[in-house]
Amino acid sequence: MSLAPILPGATVGVLGSGQLGRMFAIAARRLGYRVHTFSPDYDTPTGQVADLEVRGSYDDLTAVRAFAAKVDVVTFEFENVSHACTEAAEQVTPVRPAGTVLHTTQNRKREKQFLARQGIPVTEFAVVNSIGELREAAARIGTPAVLKTAGFGYDGKGQVKIDANTELDATWQAIEPSELIFEAFVDFEAEVSVVAARGLDGQFEHFGVVRNDHVNHVLDVTSAPGAVSETAHHEAIDITRTIMRALDVVGVMCVEFFLTRSGRLIVNELAPRPHNSGHFTVDACVTSQFEQQLRAVCGLRLGSPERLRPAAMANLLGDLWTTAGPPRWEAALAIPDVKLHLYGKTEPRPGRKMGHLTAMAPTPEAAALRVRAARRSLCAAEPAAVTF
Ligand code: AMP
Repeated sequence: MSLAPILPGATVGVLGSGQLGRMFAIAARRLGYRVHTFSPDYDTPTGQVADLEVRGSYDDLTAVRAFAAKVDVVTFEFENVSHACTEAAEQVTPVRPAGTVLHTTQNRKREKQFLARQGIPVTEFAVVNSIGELREAAARIGTPAVLKTAGFGYDGKGQVKIDANTELDATWQAIEPSELIFEAFVDFEAEVSVVAARGLDGQFEHFGVVRNDHVNHVLDVTSAPGAVSETAHHEAIDITRTIMRALDVVGVMCVEFFLTRSGRLIVNELAPRPHNSGHFTVDACVTSQFEQQLRAVCGLRLGSPERLRPAAMANLLGDLWTTAGPPRWEAALAIPDVKLHLYGKTEPRPGRKMGHLTAMAPTPEAAALRVRAARRSLCAAEPAAVTF
């Protein structure tokens, strides 16, 4: 395989067509690359800004190979692409990160077993395939706990909380038959993550530790830098570097952690792609996570991840749209140091990620207050007077 860099003017193929692909395509086009996107949908967030939008099923391996043959490198923005699909693309064109990385991280069992083999702390867990195994897991690990589908889960989808009073038989009956993970519930002090990039030559750059607040299992607000101890900061970066090296990741990866009340870090999840908790980098860093992804997959030197100002990001879900109409964009746009990002989605369903706001301020706490105020102003009858 040639390790020569893929230079501006070349074409990058993206499997998937959501907002991550859109922001990646914008970064790539700014640097003079062409972008093709492949997904089953049409007029997608990525397709709207790509040079070419190819519509096809991820299971149509002939179509996947034909797509890969027309680009210089393939990457993905969507984790639930099958192993067969990335293998088909790899027969024709380099896929970065490699399909093996996706294979390990798209299934919670494989992911946790990989992490445990590396000696990285994960929540105590058991693999559950039957009601008998569910009872055993509950007896051994105890409650409270969380039952999660092993494959194809994200943003808390396919998760059930188990308490001492939960009827295990009824729970088992109610869930779709699939492999499950029974996981001890972590009484965490905070959720934090590290978004980092690794180049073809092993160069490693990270955007520091950020703090994430979730609502209904979905990321709500990220503040950067995250207020964590120096020890936790170094440990989180070391763990991220170890994971990316062990998986031989070429590209961006996010490692999500629980920070326990005693200061321990436990890895919750890996995402081998740019991540929602790294969106602040577009407005607040010298090089965004999307440009890092492009540089990595094209075999270029990674850019400086330096953060220019403290920042906070707030997601804009479809719930903000009411019968009265869309949110009042002009209100958020009127606030200095607040940036609006919309993903070009036409259907604002509840819980659907439609866009985000990023605010910059002298401290991450002030940035978080500012971004929350900006989001509230979208639905307020009168523009908010935001002064910090
Ligand atoms: P996940 O899809 O595993 O990232 O879970 C989504 C969110 O659910 C996490 O960010 C946490 O807020 C919560 N969660 C998931 N697993 C656990 C756990 N074992 N203990 C406590 N909270 C959890």
